Amino acid sequence: MSDLSRADTDRSLAVGQRAIELMKAYGSSASPRSYAVWYTYVSGHQPLLNEAVKRIAAEHGALRDDTIEVLYDTYLDSRRQVVETERAGTTLLSEMEQVLEMLDVALGSTARYGASLQAFSQDIVAPTVNRARLRDLVASLIVATRDVTADNRTLEARMRESREEIRSLHEMLEAVRVESLTDPLTGIGNRKLFEEVLHKAVGDAVANRQSIALIVLDIDHFKRFNDVYGHLTGDRVLRLVALTMREMVDSRATIARFGGEEFGVIVPYGGRDDALDLAERIRTSVMGRELVKRSSGESLGRVTVSVGVAAYRAGDTAVSLIERADQCMFAAKRSGRNRVVVDESGLDVTQVA
Ligand code: GH3
Ligand code: MG
Ligand code: MG
Repeated sequence: MSDLSRADTDRSLAVGQRAIELMKAYGSSASPRSYAVWYTYVSGHQPLLNEAVKRIAAEHGALRDDTIEVLYDTYLDSRRQVVETERAGTTLLSEMEQVLEMLDVALGSTARYGASLQAFSQDIVAPTVNRARLRDLVASLIVATRDVTADNRTLEARMRESREEIRSLHEMLEAVRVESLTDPLTGIGNRKLFEEVLHKAVGDAVANRQSIALIVLDIDHFKRFNDVYGHLTGDRVLRLVALTMREMVDSRATIARFGGEEFGVIVPYGGRDDALDLAERIRTSVMGRELVKRSSGESLGRVTVSVGVAAYRAGDTAVSLIERADQCMFAAKRSGRNRVVVDESGLDVTQVA
């Protein structure tokens, strides 16, 4: 196993152990769902779940089954994810139980061995000891040493197996997590990813005085594409816009489709002017692409987008930032579409293009 995957395994084992401690501390039952909620909480992958857990724990001092159900349905539910996480949670719990049992056995055998050693050290200095007695003592010590070595080997092999099992569970959970954050139609992030990343970015902006900006983008007259050319062509338009965005943004930015024909970009660097520049480049690039019908080569025309840009201001939350970017996007629609509108410190609104 590589050092990296071993580190991953160690980390997920530590996360699992902490999750079990919290399950006990907050009176949650030892069910796979409760495990999934606490595991996700400890891993910190879902800031919104963490906030809800902290709030409920502070108010009630406990997370009972009905609360666990609500948290699970709200933050973790998605059919396949549910099934896979439950399976992984159950397997991981039983895996950990088995390892703990093995450790108990090993501790018992080590304690017995310690007692044998202590008895030996007393017996060999006894005044009655002679050659024959010494031979017997050494023989019994050799047997005790062999036993403890064999027990340790068994434990080591079992721990290795367990490490492998936990590593593959970890990989599977990670794959499910990535899938649960991806929009299947376009392959970019979905709304859940967008909210998670934005929430974290706003937290970082507050803590580290970093600048972040948000771009919200809506395809113009998209319904027409669906109505005139059919839903599948509409889907192609969505993929075209997603692909264009993917090509335009660098790896520091997060792009997502957060529903229908609306997209978002989180720009965690540079501030308002960089975001405005990026938004403008995305808009012109989308407009520059012509959609062609595959069967006949007939042109389906150009796609345009209306875009809103807002930068983080002191006191902003993820919600207020989205609202201001949305307002700008609607302003772009009202003033003729195919343009970028940037939020000017929340007071005036300036148009570009
Ligand atoms: P506007 O310029 O004001 O934004 O007009 P619009 O036609 O783009 O906006 P409207 O909200 O009227 O229509 C959005 C349409 O998007 C309606 C819905 O059928 C379609 N839509 C939502 N999700 C999907 C999808 O996944 N695939 C396809 N093909 N269409 C979708
Ligand atoms: Mg639209
Ligand atoms: Mg829309």
